[in-house]
Formats: sequence, C-alpha cells, structure tokens
Amino acid sequence: MPDQLMPAAFIGHGTPMNALADNRYTRAWRSFGAAVPRPRAILVISAHWYTNATAVTGMPKPRTIHDFYGFPDELFDVEYPAPGLPELYEEVADAAKPDWVGCDTDSWGIDHGTWSVLRHAFPGADIPVVQLSLNAFKGPDRHLELGRRLRPLRESGVLIIGSGNIVHNLRLPDMNRPDAGFDWALRFDEAAKEKLTTDPTEIAALDGHPDFAKSVPTPDHYLPMLYIAGLAGDAALAPLVDGHAYGSISMAAYTLGLEQTADTAPAKAADLPAGVPIEQSNI
Ligand code: ZN
Repeated sequence: MPDQLMPAAFIGHGTPMNALADNRYTRAWRSFGAAVPRPRAILVISAHWYTNATAVTGMPKPRTIHDFYGFPDELFDVEYPAPGLPELYEEVADAAKPDWVGCDTDSWGIDHGTWSVLRHAFPGADIPVVQLSLNAFKGPDRHLELGRRLRPLRESGVLIIGSGNIVHNLRLPDMNRPDAGFDWALRFDEAAKEKLTTDPTEIAALDGHPDFAKSVPTPDHYLPMLYIAGLAGDAALAPLVDGHAYGSISMAAYTLGLEQTADTAPAKAADLPAGVPIEQSNI
C-alpha cells in the first residue's frame, strides 16, 4: 500500500484474562483489526518490555512469553505463533536515528501486552510481529519523540500499536468495582482524552496534572501511549473504546488514521462482563 498511511492504535489491555475474554474491549480490538488494511508487519510497543535499552525483536520465530503468575493454566497455554520479521530491525534503527536501537535475537519475544490484544485483533497470527522495547532510562519526551520518528514505518505498511493503560495503579485496585474507576482515575483519563482527541502533542503537559502521580505511579503502562501521540503529531486520535477496571485501570483505546465506521465507532459502556482477576504481576 505505497500511497497510504497505515493506521495506528493505542490499546488499553488491562488484565491478561482479556486474552481469553469476549467483552466490549476485545470486540473493539477485533473491529480495529478487521478495519485496517492488511499490514506487512505489526510493530508493538508493549508496557511489558520495559528494559534498560531501546531494542527491537529480531528473531524469525519469536516465542510467546507468559510474563505473569497466579492465572489459570488456560492462559499459560495460549500461544501466538506469528512469525517475526528480522529485516524490520534496519528500518526501525534508521527511523530512530540518532538514537541507537539494539537488535534482540534471543531474549524477548511476544509478551502478553502484545498477544492478549493481537489474539483478538489478528486471530490468524499470520502477520509478522516485532516488538520495540521501552527504554527505562529515557524520559517521557524522548519516548514521544521516538514515536514521532517512526512515521516512515506507517508509510511502508507497518501497523504500529502501543499496548499499555493510561491509568494503571496496581497498588490501589478495588476488586469490588471490576468495571468502574475511582474519581481520580476518571478525571485523569478524561484529561488524556481531551489532549489525544484534539492535539496529541500536548499530552506531555499531563505530567503536571494533579492526578498524574496516582494514575501513573510507574511509567511502563503509560509510555506506549506516548509513542502513538508522537506518531499522531497534531492529527487527532479517535476513541475506539473506553472504560475502567478495578478502580485504578483505564481501558481507553484510540486509533489514528482510521476512517470511522459503525464497527469502529466507540463502544458504549454496556454489557460489561463479570470481573476477572486483575493483573498480578508486571515485568
Ligand atoms: Zn499490562
């Protein structure tokens, strides 16, 4: 698709159990996958590859990583056997310059931040999947800027997906409200929405928001959103689905460059599923 910009998305993934669920979130992810032109590869920036360098998975057959504990065997049995695309490393490394990007050939693979979403969005697992790590040594501005530099990949048919959660505080979950958010979570999520749907480049200002510290106690789940905001520049993102889980997790998802259809219009807050276990472990 030479003359077309591939869409992109930020997906709030929530509990790993969403990998097995059929709910309004997973249906929205499925609609997104069905609505985009077939990509030549999917590049995922997952909250769960938060490490000490910027790196790209470069193996031809990435393994499925079960990076959690305390969940049913059924979840550990999930495999997402998509191939890799080692040559994509060069393209990402070129786009990221002057930043350095490493090529990981034997360490990571496809983690649950990626497969819990792709299992719904691309159930065939037949499109190459490559992950880009989150460099823990870099501040938010550098992640936003790296997202901006990834634009050439959109021009060459690569679907870029950020997978995290805009509000993600596992120290304050309330198991009695599986489908609702605390007031502070709702406020921060709404403030992010206001920026993302008008001028995503303004998202950096949110670190001064009074609810930032509670909403983003650690950067890992927040940073993937900054990549999609950077990629968007001043083009508005469109809400794909929203909602809250366990008080302290926002399930908001956004798309970029996707013409809205009935299938991809924001899902309504209805027919929420019964609660499922919260994420119990993060790497
Ligand atoms: Zn997660």
